[in-house]
Amino acid sequence: MTNFIFLSSFEAITGMPELVGLIIAFLFGCIVGSFLNVVIHRVPNEQSIVFPNSACPSCKAPIKPYDNIPILSWTILGGKCRNCKSAISARYPAVELLTGIIFALVFWQIGFNAFLPIALIFAAVMVSLIFIDAGHMILPNVITYPLFVFSILVRLVYPVVFGAEYFPDLQYAPASWMNGYPVWAMSLACAIAGALAGGGSLWVVGELWKRLRGVEAMGLGDVKMMLGVGALLGWRLALLSIFLGAFSGALIGVIVIAKQKDKDMQAQIPFGIFLGTGSLLALLFGERLIAWYSNSFLI
Ligand SMILES: [Zn+2]
Repeated sequence: MTNFIFLSSFEAITGMPELVGLIIAFLFGCIVGSFLNVVIHRVPNEQSIVFPNSACPSCKAPIKPYDNIPILSWTILGGKCRNCKSAISARYPAVELLTGIIFALVFWQIGFNAFLPIALIFAAVMVSLIFIDAGHMILPNVITYPLFVFSILVRLVYPVVFGAEYFPDLQYAPASWMNGYPVWAMSLACAIAGALAGGGSLWVVGELWKRLRGVEAMGLGDVKMMLGVGALLGWRLALLSIFLGAFSGALIGVIVIAKQKDKDMQAQIPFGIFLGTGSLLALLFGERLIAWYSNSFLI
């Protein structure tokens, strides 16, 4: 049952203690988080993420490399621009810290193996989608489409090059269906099943809701996002992602609606935040959660 949590020892491979690996993963995550800030800030405005270099949003002064150290620079400068002293959002160090923590968690749960870079890229994409949806209520196609292509490519290449053990849904598929097919074809079939479970099921729910209630319940962005998530994680973890997302979304939704003054207003909740969080939880702990659940309740 521990297929997805395929712990290859960092210590055995590098000779350094696991803690060193965790710290490296955290620091690397902080640096990636610094880049994600640029993505989160610029992609919704359709700006290039490469040019120009980072500048203060108020006075446009370019940010010096020594003022661009994740978390530290913001803390040392007291959350203010060195040049014009206007406040710089705490979102910047928060995204850096969060990405660092998530990268450390991914390293801890996935292990030091061929799937680690894939899981880190996936986590970084989820962080950027979560924050863009929170700020702009959109999940941009320029992120969700490449995520889908990335997932399909990984599912095609990885089982051939590294073996099937990183994709537990391959082992859960009935062997008789797949007899005689090459592993990449099996993996592609599982990726499509996962995409349908993730994106397709959301789309069906959204359509039903629209027919029954006459209101748009879900954006197509959510569907496109879950197509990519499902293709990579497989149908079991895709459904778990939606379940975890819906559960946390409903919980937060109740609080938001309860606090809302105008009770007739339809609460606008960017669902991508919760789907992204659910997908991250499914990547990190999904296989364990499913194993625990089936051992506890399905015997
Ligand atoms: Zn400034």
